[in-house]
Amino acid sequence: MDLFSELKPEDCGSDPTGPTKEIETLRQTLHNYAHHYYVMDAPLVPDSEYDRLFKRLQELESEHPNLWDPNSPTQRVGGSPVDSFASLRHAVPMLSLKTETDSESSGAINFDNRIRKELGLDTFAPLVEYMAELKFDGLAINLRYLKGKLVSATTRGDGEFGEEVTHNIRTIQQIPLELTIKDSQNFPLHTIPNVLEVRGEVYMGLSDFQDLNERQRIKIAKGMKGEKTFVNPRNAAAGAVRQLDPKIAADRPLSFFAYAVGEVAWAEEDKEIIAPQRSTDITSVVDESVIFKTHEQLLNTLKAFGFPVDDHTKRVFGAEGLVNFHQQMGLLRSSLDFDIDGVVYKLNDTHLQRKLGFITREPKWAVAHKYPAQEELTTVLAIEVQVGRTGKLTPVAKLAPVFVGGVTVTNATLHNEDEARRKDVRVGDTVIVRRAGDVIPEVVGVLIERRVGDAKAFEMPQSCPVCSSVALRAEGEADYRCTGGLFCPAQRKQAFLHFAQRKALNIEDLGEKLVDQLVDTGLIKTLPDMYKLGLVSLIALDRMAEKSANNVLISIEKSKSTTLNRFLYGLGIRHVGETTAKDLASHFRSLDAIINSSVEQLLEVKDVGPVVAQSLRSFFDQAHNVEVVNQLRACGVHWIESERVTQNPQFALPLSAKTYVITGTLSLWAREELKEVLESLGAKVSSSVSAKTTSLIAGEAAGSKLSKAQELGIPVLSEAQTKIWLESLIQNK
Ligand code: NAD
Repeated sequence: MDLFSELKPEDCGSDPTGPTKEIETLRQTLHNYAHHYYVMDAPLVPDSEYDRLFKRLQELESEHPNLWDPNSPTQRVGGSPVDSFASLRHAVPMLSLKTETDSESSGAINFDNRIRKELGLDTFAPLVEYMAELKFDGLAINLRYLKGKLVSATTRGDGEFGEEVTHNIRTIQQIPLELTIKDSQNFPLHTIPNVLEVRGEVYMGLSDFQDLNERQRIKIAKGMKGEKTFVNPRNAAAGAVRQLDPKIAADRPLSFFAYAVGEVAWAEEDKEIIAPQRSTDITSVVDESVIFKTHEQLLNTLKAFGFPVDDHTKRVFGAEGLVNFHQQMGLLRSSLDFDIDGVVYKLNDTHLQRKLGFITREPKWAVAHKYPAQEELTTVLAIEVQVGRTGKLTPVAKLAPVFVGGVTVTNATLHNEDEARRKDVRVGDTVIVRRAGDVIPEVVGVLIERRVGDAKAFEMPQSCPVCSSVALRAEGEADYRCTGGLFCPAQRKQAFLHFAQRKALNIEDLGEKLVDQLVDTGLIKTLPDMYKLGLVSLIALDRMAEKSANNVLISIEKSKSTTLNRFLYGLGIRHVGETTAKDLASHFRSLDAIINSSVEQLLEVKDVGPVVAQSLRSFFDQAHNVEVVNQLRACGVHWIESERVTQNPQFALPLSAKTYVITGTLSLWAREELKEVLESLGAKVSSSVSAKTTSLIAGEAAGSKLSKAQELGIPVLSEAQTKIWLESLIQNK
């Protein structure tokens, strides 16, 4: 049929072909995307892109109702079940959810307004009661129990028919194969229904997902055929559930959250037993699927059976309750060990749910309120190779700015040559960028079909892009490294920045731009040069006023008083991170002891293995490194050492058995830094004042802790007093 033959101009506004063509293209595109997503478990685009097109199609369809089509993606749920699995008809259809996409509060407010209107509630009517839940990013499963035994597990499929995946679902430990009542006190049903369908989400936890991908990477490195890493936990979970071989599914760690029921029916003999209770604690509606008065009661029942029900779920009232839940869970999102893409609001009262009913593919009594996407599309503007502190060359994709996972991303690391090859990212490509939680953004895939022109594959440079020294990839290593050492300005600059960072010597005013200038003008070549900088040379730099120069000098001066672990970490010894530096400092308590230790002695330190021990030895075997350390000490960099402890373990540190509390705004230290200094002298730092507190260290605007200390007669030290006192302790150590 000619798509345009039946169109009249008035159907489509000024452009008669516009909406029809656009609607048709959108439908085809969305069908294709949905097929790859639901059926092949290999999405072509991020959900955010799919959702944008879906919304556009919904808008067009509501503007042009004459172009309505029952087969439109907006009228359908999910994707058709595939032939490789037995297809089962759902006793109760498995629907989708209406989605509110705005990331602020209006999604919640709109939903509450709609519900109040549908229920005919005026402004004076009481607040509506809802259950608010997380929206787990996995795939929906229907578990059917007959006489308490699991007989089938089906995917949602197209909502009417699902795929039978019982063999794989049985491998999920959290799903009971037989129903027993684990918590009879909270069990309102009195007996196990003859038919009970439990619905919920199968998902893969983030740490399980990372472990799985790590195992996959090892398999790929060993050359095992057909192995791949997974783009995100949702696809990994969906792929595992829809495996034909249950052994593969069992190998992929899956979890489950229950949040709904499907069919519920009673055996004839049980109807008698439950009848008297119906009028009290369960609903008296004749329809047997409506046995719970509230959604909360339904969840409690599932819990009583031992199903995992997420404990963030909360009963809330009115729009404000929903908005608060959305905000609170938004803050929590990055700390969860599973992906969520939003929250779900459900009317709590099941009678009212029934009253509102359904439209096409979604219930009217529930809504999904989404959070900003964690995967987005953008374009690669360039691929740059950056040189790190240890000379490591890292290819980095420079991206057209894109808002993803709550921040604007412009860079994504491609890690190394192998990763860059595997992903085959090219300049001009449209790529999927993922940023979940605090994890650094990464390119998870390229949309090959959108590649334009003759984009060239990325090649790792054979020389350092900064100093032109040869770049080498040692056998068995993944990274290319510049051989220029401290001759390479990039490595030098990174070494300074590493030394100055907050977790190391904490030289606040020594930022990237200033280090660039100082290295480029040759004012600093080695670490001790920083402590030799003077006002005159700083003021001579571009855009450096006297006040800023003074601030730089003050923060350099302040950094001289540090701790051994910070100093060690700041030296930037390969494989010596913050934790290792702490372990080394608390084991040896003296830098010279570390410098003079053998590999065997270093291996005695907790968590120090041969690689770290050898790296430390190699570092201090270089005379010029020891010279740098000595010069830094000569410049006044100092910390507390207590060799006496190692010589005589009975000898207590100067502040052992003392407890301090820090309060108010500090200006001479970062709070964490002061805490470390006190702890390195043996003190305990507590967060609340009690009779056991030795002294309170109070900065500006100290509040209730200061009043409490005064009440209890506990000595209070100002910051300045603390500084003098600690300096004297350090000198007399
Ligand atoms: P949906 O995922 O937005 O909402 C319905 C689903 O939410 C339910 O089926 C259930 O699985 C899940 N859910 C999670 N927690 C829940 C809870 N507490 N209570 C009830 N349900 C809960 O809708 P949908 O119909 O599955 O599909 C749309 C989603 O799939 C969108 O996010 C869309 O972006 C994505 N999708 C992506 C592509 C792609 O190409 N990337 C293609 C198709 C669909």
